Amino acid sequence: MATPCDLLLTNALVLTMDERFSSHANGGVAIGDGEILAVGSATDLAREYSPNETVDCGGRVLMPGLINAHTHAPMTLLRGLADDLRLDVWLMGYMMPVEREFVRPDFVTLGTTVACAEMIRSGTTCFSDMYYFEESVAEAAASAGLRAVCAQTILKFPSPDARSFEDSLARARDFIERWKGHSLIVPAVAPHAPYTCTEEILRACADLANEFGVPLHIHLAETALEVEQSRRDHGMPVIPWVKKQRLFDARVIAAHCVHVDEGELRTLRDAGAGIAHNPTSNLKLGSGVAPVAKMLEIGVNAGIGTDGPASNNDLDMFEEMRLAALLAKGVGGDPTALPARDALTMATRLGARAIHLGEITGSLEPGKRADLITLDLDATHNIPRFTRDANSVYSQIVYAAKSTDVVDVMCDGRWLMRGRALLTIDEAKIHAEASDVARKIDAFLTTREQSVLQKLIAIGGAAEQESFEVQVKARLASPDGVLAALHKLEKNEITIIRAVHYHQFDTYFFFADRSQGLLRYREDEFLDERNNVVNARARLTLTGPSREAAFGSVLLFRSRFFAPAAHSPRFYREYFKPAREREVEKDRRRWLVAFRGAQFYVHVDQLAHPHKGACFLEVKSRTWSRRDAEDKSAIINELLTLLGARPDEAIDEGYVEL
Ligand SMILES: [Zn+2]
Repeated sequence: MATPCDLLLTNALVLTMDERFSSHANGGVAIGDGEILAVGSATDLAREYSPNETVDCGGRVLMPGLINAHTHAPMTLLRGLADDLRLDVWLMGYMMPVEREFVRPDFVTLGTTVACAEMIRSGTTCFSDMYYFEESVAEAAASAGLRAVCAQTILKFPSPDARSFEDSLARARDFIERWKGHSLIVPAVAPHAPYTCTEEILRACADLANEFGVPLHIHLAETALEVEQSRRDHGMPVIPWVKKQRLFDARVIAAHCVHVDEGELRTLRDAGAGIAHNPTSNLKLGSGVAPVAKMLEIGVNAGIGTDGPASNNDLDMFEEMRLAALLAKGVGGDPTALPARDALTMATRLGARAIHLGEITGSLEPGKRADLITLDLDATHNIPRFTRDANSVYSQIVYAAKSTDVVDVMCDGRWLMRGRALLTIDEAKIHAEASDVARKIDAFLTTREQSVLQKLIAIGGAAEQESFEVQVKARLASPDGVLAALHKLEKNEITIIRAVHYHQFDTYFFFADRSQGLLRYREDEFLDERNNVVNARARLTLTGPSREAAFGSVLLFRSRFFAPAAHSPRFYREYFKPAREREVEKDRRRWLVAFRGAQFYVHVDQLAHPHKGACFLEVKSRTWSRRDAEDKSAIINELLTLLGARPDEAIDEGYVEL
């Protein structure tokens, strides 16, 4: 007697993508309770099963839904926002500031829904995500009917959904507790990357993942710079370092792994970690090309991901498979590298294993969930079809087919798209809502880009305080006179509170609009009595234009904003796009002195570049009011005279007038 089942799919070229790459011309799939009951010849299945419903697939390809092993789904709403930038400028300068301003649960819900619509249309039935407010990603994915590993992001600095790392860890725990056991969603934790986390965060995340037996999703070894910094800071590359932090105690999904060697790949394999290869994102951000052929040779579970739609800029796994196959050949100088069938395996069965869902999805096999798609290979760009070589259909799919050839999509036994019509998402509604968000982000960035100060604040930790100062500068023939005068005055008129000696490297950024002020990137090397470097720091200072005209030779009320410089001058150059720059290298002796009841800084500078050997005196004091500034301007002139110097109004910040 025939076994009852919910649905029988017939008349399809079934590609199971199982270990043996079994395929069935005129094949079928029997489905019950969202599970694949049997796969085989349609005629046999029709004899064995009595379905509630039979669907004729019209001779199309029936295969597993694609697995997007790494993405940030809500970032569809940031697609095309800032392109052709370096990773750090793109991430720290644009993505993170905009995210801090805009990312709220409703943003995440809308962005994920847009992503789900795009993924369903392009044949993806499962994705591995990493973002903020991950519960909203989970809700939107479940509502669209897609399967997803949803990983709550954890960072060492404040994020859109948490003020601190402790907050975000608590959030991740709560999220995992509430979603664990869901039929479509696997909750997970995502320490963003080693360079945006601390050792403590990595360990805490691994512990959390282990406690609940959920995956841990992280970006690893994405750029050469990251590996270089890891070697410098920890004395080893990224993979061994995170291993040392016990990261691989957890079931890791490692995005990228572009800059890894064979030993590191073996470490990943032995740890049971999966890799998500993101060829488009790696190319677009100039990160390099991951050694994919080597990954497969060594036996790591490597899937394919699109990465977020802000760095791709789409979620099209067909493009991604094709690019993965072509790149492996191009960089390896070997056309046999990553054949089409292997690329498709990475996007299906191997990808499912990479995200630790290999038991339930990734191939059409009895016992797995019914996550499948049909593909029309009769479009002009796909014809003709050869059958002599069993692999031709895989190359047809990878090299010729397009995501628009996807006709039907089912996940967990539920149809999400039939005949190219979406069944779970109202596309017109999300298009309108997404346009509305884009308008708001455009307005926000337009305003920000007009102000150097706003841009400085946007990259975080900036603008610690605004202060005003009075200052005066003088040219010196040599430092000797001032040094002798200071020594003499110290006995009676002045008290030296502190003395410091630096070697300073300054990069000044000038802007076409002078009202924006002058931005200085300064590296200070602190020198001891024997001129050895004992410490170093880097700071950014934005000096506003004078609020009032020079008061005699003393500058009144000039605002200064300070910020620690966490990035390189190159980062700031690309981010602030100055009209011109000037570099100054000098030796600076600095004294903090008390004189006539006020405190002053006395600087004696000897330039190494430009104007090697030129010597200057600068005396300045912080001030808080006009009255205070006027009082100090009289005293400052007196002090200058005592030091044997005459004020010179022609010397500007950065010695630009010289
Ligand atoms: Zn990513």
